[in-house]
Amino acid sequence: MITLIPKKCIACKLCVKACLFGGVRLEHKTPVLTELCTGCGACIDVCRAGAIVSSGKSTGQIHNLALYKGIWVIAEQRRARLHPVTAELLGKARELADVRKTNVSAVVLGADIKHLSNVLIQHGADRVFIADAPFLEPYRTIPAERVIAGLIDKHKPEIILLGATTMGRDLAPRLANRFRTGLTADCTGLTIAADDGLLHQTRPAFGGNIMATITTPRHRPQMATVRPGVMQPQFFPDRNGETISVKVKQQASDNAVQILKTVKKRKSSISLEKAEVIVSGGRGLGESKNFRLLEKLARVFSGQVGASRAVVDMGWIAHEHQVGQTGKTVRPRIYIACGISGAVQHLAGMQESDIIIAINKDPQAPIMQIAHFGLVGDFKRIIPELIEQLKPAS
Ligand SMILES: Cc1cc2nc3c(=O)[nH]c(=O)nc-3n(C[C@H](O)[C@H](O)[C@H](O)COP(=O)(O)OP(=O)(O)OC[C@H]3O[C@@H](n4cnc5c(N)ncnc54)[C@H](O)[C@@H]3O)c2cc1C
Repeated sequence: MITLIPKKCIACKLCVKACLFGGVRLEHKTPVLTELCTGCGACIDVCRAGAIVSSGKSTGQIHNLALYKGIWVIAEQRRARLHPVTAELLGKARELADVRKTNVSAVVLGADIKHLSNVLIQHGADRVFIADAPFLEPYRTIPAERVIAGLIDKHKPEIILLGATTMGRDLAPRLANRFRTGLTADCTGLTIAADDGLLHQTRPAFGGNIMATITTPRHRPQMATVRPGVMQPQFFPDRNGETISVKVKQQASDNAVQILKTVKKRKSSISLEKAEVIVSGGRGLGESKNFRLLEKLARVFSGQVGASRAVVDMGWIAHEHQVGQTGKTVRPRIYIACGISGAVQHLAGMQESDIIIAINKDPQAPIMQIAHFGLVGDFKRIIPELIEQLKPAS
């Protein structure tokens, strides 16, 4: 699909440097494709001489960017109630749309969901596409993809945001593949260039050791997923917007997958995402039984206990307590990190907390750099003292 035109090549070697896969090499000053070429088109982007072109629909394809307008949020609902990530995505979409001077649309699918239109508008949508039909409830990949793809094809949004939830993670790659566009998963930051509408999608990469900002300069729509709890919802009680009912028809292929039974997951007693105060423990606790001390402190605030991955991996506490890149993303009013060094993967899940208090015997621990208050010393000495000072007078 990628073709090299030797006559045009100026032997600048940029294509060789741009290829992450060893897919281009120079032979006698002429670039040649190797069997490692994935057809990603990175070499085309850097070639100033026009010596590398693509044929076929899957690579190097440049969409007519000017046709694409507006920011879309694919809303998520279950039993006619919106998932909180939808309001969070709308809050971010509103912010981006105000910079870009464009509008925000929400797309929602399901049965008996007409009332959700107003809620979506109050959270920032200017326009809501509602596909309301029994066969769209509960969510199934094939009909959902077909209906949403039809809308994208017709209205051509510039940006599409989805939650990094089970549904979003299922739907987003299928849509991106269908429209031959890029998708950035699990973004922690999104900004937009007002002039060309390029979405700067930031996410941790290489095991969280760097933050990568990814753009989709040649294809539209630009697609991103964002984990629940990362973005801030907004609420505009008096907003007005437009509701568009989408006509949908069931197709035989929709039933390729049928849901026979839904079993509700046992509700966890832990809801870190909703906790106002979280007391988290890490390897510095020394042993699992020291979590009891943290539980005591958490109880003083009616808070919850969190943990770093190190202690979850050691089996000191269950995974549902884990905060961070591969755990939960939290934004409590107070986050107390006890015996946690502050690895970038941990910070990815808690750095948006209003107040961060670090208890660590090492004043140079990275957590101290982002903590609003750092208590240097042994947690075994500091926590009982805190409990004593904070507990209500009897
Ligand atoms: C792909 C990937 C994903 C990851 N995802 C996550 C994630 O989601 N969440 C996460 O947390 N990590 C994650 N990690 C792991 C992360 O890199 C760190 O290894 C981990 O966060 C370290 O845990 P810790 O801070 O508890 O332990 P350590 O780094 O060992 O820190 C222990 C701290 O305790 C302090 N200390 C020791 N004794 C005491 C004492 N008596 N009193 C007070 N302080 C004391 C020490 O000074 C030190 O700062 C991930 C890693 C990778 C590669």
